[in-house]
Amino acid sequence: MRTKIVAGNWKMNKNFHEGLELTSEINGMVNDEINGNVEVVLIPTFIHLNAISQLTQASSKVSTGAQNCHTETSGAYTGEISAAMIAAAGCKYCLAGHSERRLYNNETNAILAKKVDAILANNLMPIYCCGETLEERNAGKHFDIIGSQVKEGLFHLSNEQILKCVIAYEPVWAIGTGVTASTAQAQEVHAFIRNLLVEKYGNDIASQIRILYGGSVKPDNATELFSQPDIDGGLVGGAALQSRSFVDIVKGAC
Ligand code: PEP
Repeated sequence: MRTKIVAGNWKMNKNFHEGLELTSEINGMVNDEINGNVEVVLIPTFIHLNAISQLTQASSKVSTGAQNCHTETSGAYTGEISAAMIAAAGCKYCLAGHSERRLYNNETNAILAKKVDAILANNLMPIYCCGETLEERNAGKHFDIIGSQVKEGLFHLSNEQILKCVIAYEPVWAIGTGVTASTAQAQEVHAFIRNLLVEKYGNDIASQIRILYGGSVKPDNATELFSQPDIDGGLVGGAALQSRSFVDIVKGAC
């Protein structure tokens, strides 16, 4: 049985005060309303991580993650943050390869493979994002694109390492657009990714790896999406910025 995860990617939103307030609200609601076995992950901007990680320590279900990290542990990389620093801030997870970083920061699968290594080397768990653009889907190339992203970013890992990874399928055309992949479209890609994992690592390992769906997840579509056999929760953007909608999405995973 895979424990579901609902992770909220705050992106470049919420000032410090707002971030603490949102965390306190989510902590309280999760404590009062969520009985099921689910992991809730808050992914704020870097400079809030330390304080928010301390707040989430009050809850056994809520932890934190970072949105990105550098490939190196330290050095002359002005403006960058290492996975070691993120771990020291009290995080459990770190995103790698969100489509916005692939697009605006030219992050390739090869760079992301190194980021995944840095994340694992610092005892954090990567949430590795993959997903196709609308043009790629319309051209029927989505399985090729997602296959390359998964293989080139993750398949150098050992059995022990891949077990610490979470994968997030996020079709680019569904992120922040209000257009959600249909349940069938999402499940089809999740099953495809799990099958790649079976081919590379075998059934036993593939069946333990969490694969999240991301792209306009909302309270009214979360339950159906998360009940699919290969969808193990969600990576949520817009709806994670408000405690009520986020915790209602968490309920969809219970
Ligand atoms: C995201 O950015 O990871 C995301 C899924 O955003 P949204 O939920 O707003 O589509």
